[in-house]
Amino acid sequence: MSTETEKLIQEGQAVVMNTYGRLPMALVKGEGSWVWDVEGNKYLDFVSGIAVNSLGHKHPEVVKAIQKQTEEILHTSNLYWIPNQIHLAKLLVENSFADKVFFCNSGAEANEGAIKLARKYAKAHYGNEKYEILSLKNSFHGRTLATLTATGQTKYQAGYEPLPEGFAYAELNNPDDLKQKITDKTAAVIIEPIQGEGGIIPAELDFLQTARKLCDEKGALLIFDEVQTGVGRTGKLFAHEWSSVKPDIMTLAKALGGGVPIGAMLAKDEVASAFKPGDHASTFGGNPLATAAGCAVLKVMLEEGFFEDVQEHAAYFKAELQKLADKYQTGEPVRGIGFLLGWPLAKLGPETVNACREKGLLINFAGGKALRFVPPINVSYEEIDRAVKILDDVFSSLW
Ligand code: PMP
Repeated sequence: MSTETEKLIQEGQAVVMNTYGRLPMALVKGEGSWVWDVEGNKYLDFVSGIAVNSLGHKHPEVVKAIQKQTEEILHTSNLYWIPNQIHLAKLLVENSFADKVFFCNSGAEANEGAIKLARKYAKAHYGNEKYEILSLKNSFHGRTLATLTATGQTKYQAGYEPLPEGFAYAELNNPDDLKQKITDKTAAVIIEPIQGEGGIIPAELDFLQTARKLCDEKGALLIFDEVQTGVGRTGKLFAHEWSSVKPDIMTLAKALGGGVPIGAMLAKDEVASAFKPGDHASTFGGNPLATAAGCAVLKVMLEEGFFEDVQEHAAYFKAELQKLADKYQTGEPVRGIGFLLGWPLAKLGPETVNACREKGLLINFAGGKALRFVPPINVSYEEIDRAVKILDDVFSSLW
């Protein structure tokens, strides 16, 4: 670490609240799958802002859309109609189960909106006793009070009590437990198609099917939190498209803005109509800049053949990772779909992340359980080979 980074860290520690376990580096430039730190070191970015920069850095279409919008208007209230917001909503509706979209600024805010909409809907249709949000153990849904309560990991909740009432938890991939936990009180079940922060753990098809069936039987809504899995990450626009199961509400954020903050909450008309004017709002929600970026991101991803390419590259990467996992006998198989991959490691996770960083590859360790690989989804074969070679070098010295 040079004095420049040290100085920056010292200054940062003096004025920025200490809520993150940051690594000792600062990124100042990016292009495609590559980023540069303040000292000019170059890294292959297989973190992508945790699934944010899914088209890589400085994608020309995204840059163009942002530049154009900044030259037009950055007015940002929802007192008036915002054309880009309408365009992005149309793109999302045309390419999903949903009829209506509400825009906000983050994943937590999208889930907060989903929880509010589910409660409004349940109360309007079934009365005041239907309000419970059933989420899954080991899940992650955000850091606002309602979403950290929905998050099925107590480490995120400690110290923030009293937590909001009306939340319950079931086990992922255990249909019997879900059957027991869903009751007449359940307003909605919220599920990540693949648990991300929890260590890259996919929901199994029969579990999703059971969730859909139970929700229908109990008059509960099914919410898919696709904040991490959505917008191309798994090689389809939305991860749930790999199954036959459709939600009633879906939340998005991260990759949707190509690096600009945005969140979205999508629903069928029947559900969305539970919100009336004045029921929910966000000053920056769907602002012209974020939605211009969102339109550019979706247009790139919806081009003919784009996802076929992503799927082929991702299958190659997963196979290469599995070869390494076999070579070093690290245990459980590499898991995940598309470019949301996890390599389960019982030990040496943080050491591996650091050693990779020293050799010019950025990855991270999700949930203290698995190395997480979330490169730009348009990463090249050469870049994948380079990452695999670095991992091989690191494992040969660490393992
Ligand atoms: N849901 C999921 C599945 C996530 O992975 C995250 C972020 N890691 C969130 C919600 C929260 O998103 P944000 O940090 O944008 O509030």
